[in-house]
Amino acid sequence: MSVPVPTAIHAGDGVPAALLDRLASILPRNALLVGDAIDPRYQEDRRGRYSARPCFVARPGTTEEVAACLAACNDFAQPLVVQGGRTGLSGGHRIADGEAVLSTERMTLLGAVQPLTRTVLASAGTPLQAVQEAAEAAGCQFGVDIGARGSATVGGNIATNAGGIRVLRYGMFRGQVAGLETVLADGTVLSALRGLDKDNAGYDLNQLFIGSEGTLGVVTKALLRLHPKPLGEANAFVAVPSVGAALA
Ligand SMILES: Cc1cc2nc3c(=O)[nH]c(=O)nc-3n(C[C@H](O)[C@H](O)[C@H](O)COP(=O)(O)OP(=O)(O)OC[C@H]3O[C@@H](n4cnc5c(N)ncnc54)[C@H](O)[C@@H]3O)c2cc1C
Repeated sequence: MSVPVPTAIHAGDGVPAALLDRLASILPRNALLVGDAIDPRYQEDRRGRYSARPCFVARPGTTEEVAACLAACNDFAQPLVVQGGRTGLSGGHRIADGEAVLSTERMTLLGAVQPLTRTVLASAGTPLQAVQEAAEAAGCQFGVDIGARGSATVGGNIATNAGGIRVLRYGMFRGQVAGLETVLADGTVLSALRGLDKDNAGYDLNQLFIGSEGTLGVVTKALLRLHPKPLGEANAFVAVPSVGAALA
């Protein structure tokens, strides 16, 4: 169903009316924000540097909607910035003039933990904390923990290859990814969610997307590895006089 967008908003934000009309035909009504409907949060930056106002915000809820939005923006050469929880510290989610936002905030489906393979399938906008809690409930542990766990998303964690306080034990986010579904700028969907540890069927394109900060496409789903839950956990505070002493 096509939802008409007011012409004044097209002109004000410099976005072709035909592009907004096409996006409105792809997305549900509340999933395309233009003009005053754009909340200031899409301009926020944890480091206190506000970015420009996006010329529109697309909030797809499915891989198909992501693909159709990207194809439309590609056809109109409309630059897009992917946003997850906007907790990134290197400014990758910030908006420059003329750019629009593709937010994954409606993509929060989290599958059931698979006990045999010890994996879980998460949509890109799922908060990290939801993955941790699902793992915990299934008697497992997720390998990454960071202070922004409640807001940071799986897609953002992958795009930044997040590390965190368990990195020495379990590795970075790269080490937790068993498979990915991604969408390229022209709307092509790449699905590599088989999750096989032994998989020598050609190039491993998933690795390119991890740490790519949204420059290669949009991560839409991730098959994540879980670990056996430690039997016990103990914390110690050790005071050392120097870095050398800490390493020794
Ligand atoms: C309090 C705090 C503590 C932190 N601690 C650590 C730490 O200990 N170790 C560490 O490594 N990092 C740490 N970080 C940084 C953390 O890694 C990032 O904040 C987080 O991974 C980004 O997730 P996000 O969903 O907020 O992504 P955003 O900030 O929204 O985006 C970050 C980047 O990813 C891209 N992106 C987002 N979603 C997608 C997607 N679906 N597909 C493609 N690209 C996408 C964006 O375009 C942007 O370039 C911390 C941050 C905070 C605020």
